[in-house]
Amino acid sequence: MMMYRKAATLLVGSFYVSAFQSGSFQTGTIIRKSPFFNSSRTSNIGTFALTSGPSFCEKCGSTLEIKIPQGDERKRHVCRNSECGYIVYNNPKVVVGAICTHSDRVLLCQRAIEPCKGKWGYPQGYLELGETTRQGAARETWEEAGVHFDPSKSELIALYNLAGMQIQTIYRVELESDEFEAGHESSDVRFVTWDDIPWDHLAFPTVQWGLEHAKNMKDEIKPTVQERTKFVTLDGQWKVEEG
Ligand SMILES: [Zn+2]
Repeated sequence: MMMYRKAATLLVGSFYVSAFQSGSFQTGTIIRKSPFFNSSRTSNIGTFALTSGPSFCEKCGSTLEIKIPQGDERKRHVCRNSECGYIVYNNPKVVVGAICTHSDRVLLCQRAIEPCKGKWGYPQGYLELGETTRQGAARETWEEAGVHFDPSKSELIALYNLAGMQIQTIYRVELESDEFEAGHESSDVRFVTWDDIPWDHLAFPTVQWGLEHAKNMKDEIKPTVQERTKFVTLDGQWKVEEG
């Protein structure tokens, strides 16, 4: 994930933000400071308008233009057909994940798909419509590892904000069985001890955050929720803050 680690480049009036988990680039323009964010984060979370994205209106098929809709404060993709005027709202995706343990071993899946094919991580993916985040984490675990757990038994352990593009909610759960069956998105599934986690071959930085935190919290009956935000500053540098 070279792009993940690449610092954003500051341009005149705009900056580049790498899409954290996809590796694709998107361009944004600072509109104005929002009163809802503190100054250190103003530049990047929710205050840029994407200049990449859909080309055509999903309602009428006309081309889209980027402009600030009336009454809005941000640039968005807007249908050029004045009869239609459809506005595309690009909001963060919700990612759900589960760090599953059994007898002090943790369930890891090796990714069979891009991005980060061949790298390891806990089951995670995008929340589907109609699911709670716990249910989504349980579904992802079933899909990737063939492992069932009761969503109500899972505990929230981490919440990560990724530059306004993703919100990740990560749970932990102690499994009743160590049986598994790799799903089509996984080339391998294993239970490993905390010391045997392949720290140098993890899929995403957030996977490392989650596993480190789960390891630190493993003896805590009630885990502390780790809350982190990763964003790009005005001078184009990646930054991570607690909270
Ligand atoms: Zn339209």
